Amino acid sequence: MIIVMSIGATEQEATNVRDQLRQYNLTPHDNYGTQRVVIAVLGDVAPVRDLLVGKLSVMPGVESVTPITRPYKLTSRESHPEDTVIEVLGTKVGDGGLTIMAGPCSIENRDMMLETAHAVAKAGATILRGGAFKPRTSPYAFQGLGVEGLILLAEASKETGLPTITEVMEPSQVEVVAKHSDILQVGTRNMQNYSLLTAVGKAGKPVMLKRGYGATIEEWLMAAEYIVSSGNPHVILCERGIRTFETYTRNTLDLTAVPLLHHLTHLPVVVDPSHATGKRWLVKPMALAAVAAGADGIMVEVHPNPDQARSDGEQSLTFDQFADMTSALNQIHEMVKTLNKDPFTMPGQVKVGGTSKH
Ligand code: PEP
Ligand code: MN
Repeated sequence: MIIVMSIGATEQEATNVRDQLRQYNLTPHDNYGTQRVVIAVLGDVAPVRDLLVGKLSVMPGVESVTPITRPYKLTSRESHPEDTVIEVLGTKVGDGGLTIMAGPCSIENRDMMLETAHAVAKAGATILRGGAFKPRTSPYAFQGLGVEGLILLAEASKETGLPTITEVMEPSQVEVVAKHSDILQVGTRNMQNYSLLTAVGKAGKPVMLKRGYGATIEEWLMAAEYIVSSGNPHVILCERGIRTFETYTRNTLDLTAVPLLHHLTHLPVVVDPSHATGKRWLVKPMALAAVAAGADGIMVEVHPNPDQARSDGEQSLTFDQFADMTSALNQIHEMVKTLNKDPFTMPGQVKVGGTSKH
């Protein structure tokens, strides 16, 4: 259930609403917009739903009371109409600009990490990626440099000024990854690792949650809900392809997720065409399509010599290919940035609590 307070409602009126909710063992969760507060109700509303709607609707300062049917509450746009904007080292994600995350699949050594970092920074990347703890399908494949890799990533960040993102695979790694990286990535294989989700929810750093390769949108948002309800509202969603019957590509990129998520949730949405396709030559067209569909950003793998890469070389871009792609992406983004409105927001209609970017 969400309670929208009127513009001009007093703090005492909002407090009275919160107190009323607590009498029913429900927890109020405030979302402050620019003009008013929206209170989301957490807990088991069902048994007292009709009674509460009746009581709350007539309280002073209350504009509307809407029962929410969606199982995800804090991540739902109903409870938080304004877009969430995440800021790391002065770089914003979800503010209408284009986020470009790039770097190697795995950090292999100092030279390649620094060389790649400088190349992607020069070509327009806004966030630097690099895997230190690698989730590999085979136990015999390169598993990443671990903490040594994290230290190299932090050094590359210092040299280029770019904020960083890297994967954390288990709760015991959260502290060290959060110490060295600006954004924590939860990979596709761990999307429903609930103890990891709870741990990154308490880490105090933004989290990028990749879609499980067999997960529905609702399961994905429920996973994000674990992070947000553990105390971390700074979550980015990343569509990275799902498994279908198609075998030509590594996964099938589900681009409908982009507008769908912008409608269902206030969290920023990024697309990873590298893992979605598994093929270098498909990365650029799918990145362009993602931006055209309204993605807040993309994440791509880049390597100084992809044929020699220790992981995912076949989908990694060369420096030249990356520079060519970013210039095309920026052009597409310029063209579409005002076009991807939420279809449920008609022209001129202002959403409660603020305006919607998409
Ligand atoms: C990655 O981005 O390094 C990665 C392993 O991606 P995914 O979890 O989407 O497979
Ligand atoms: Mn990879």
